[in-house]
Amino acid sequence: MTCAEVACPMLGAAVADDERSYALSDYEGAQARWCPGCGDHSVLTAVERLLVAEQLRPEQTVFVSGIGCSSRFPHYLRTYGFHGIHGRALPVATGVKLHRPDLNVFVVMGDGDCTSIGAGHWLHATRYNVKMVALMLDNGIYGLTKNQTSPTTPQGHTSNTSPTGGVLPALDPISAMLGMTNASFVAQTAEWIPAHLAATLRAAWKHDGFAFVRVLQRCPVFTPDIYQIAVQKPDRIELLVHDDGVDAPELAKTYRNRVAHDPRDLTRARQLAEPHDRIRLGLFLKDASRPCYDALRRVPPRTAAERMAALDRELDRHAV
Ligand code: SF4
Ligand code: MG
Repeated sequence: MTCAEVACPMLGAAVADDERSYALSDYEGAQARWCPGCGDHSVLTAVERLLVAEQLRPEQTVFVSGIGCSSRFPHYLRTYGFHGIHGRALPVATGVKLHRPDLNVFVVMGDGDCTSIGAGHWLHATRYNVKMVALMLDNGIYGLTKNQTSPTTPQGHTSNTSPTGGVLPALDPISAMLGMTNASFVAQTAEWIPAHLAATLRAAWKHDGFAFVRVLQRCPVFTPDIYQIAVQKPDRIELLVHDDGVDAPELAKTYRNRVAHDPRDLTRARQLAEPHDRIRLGLFLKDASRPCYDALRRVPPRTAAERMAALDRELDRHAV
């Protein structure tokens, strides 16, 4: 077998990688078991379509998740996957990418997973700016554990842990991201607008660095009302538009509220992220000049003999 061929453990036969093309069915894993009407279904479909459009080889693609409804994602895809522990998806994904820069790395987190239990890792993954697409599916609740208030639950919303309504204002993940050191790509989209979701995923995938996408996600079981008005009334949505932003021209007729925003302008991005009577979707920030830890610390590949010599030297340091 030449180096242009690959024996794919999931697809079976050895195929020439320049001949093989992948269809949707090549990426489909187990049948999704989210509730009927759950927004996670649309995100899965959009991600599968991205994989097809970009022809990402399943055996070179990894989905890492934490814990939550959305974290079932790796089971539903026929790529490699790592269904980790609560809040720890980002350090796992960072490790994967640092040791295997040839892999396509995606992370899927829930709102509690990312902004509560995983908040420390979120901060540092942003600062490290290692190339990956990090999706935060925000339904404003802990769904898998059956209805507990998360940091993004709207103030006043009742849940098992806040039976009379949450008393604190909700955390805004976009504002938080725009305040983090070395943030390089920050976008917001909604799963019920497939064209915008697809365009956002495409832009995130093309970005060289840590691409953070907050996906507003409906949970008809525990937070059926939080996005309902925006779903029914497109005038409650405002799209950020720019030549270098998220491009979905087919939305022009339905989504008429638009605001021009150059995603290189961090100050303006922070202003646009402030609370507003409309939900703003689009690319808030894109800065390809930010340093990436994986590029700065890339170690040239070593031969087996060089690796053994390095191991021997390390063992000698500790041997008595
Ligand atoms: Fe989706 Fe909510 Fe059901 Fe979880 S509980 S699968 S988020 S609808
Ligand atoms: Mg949630």
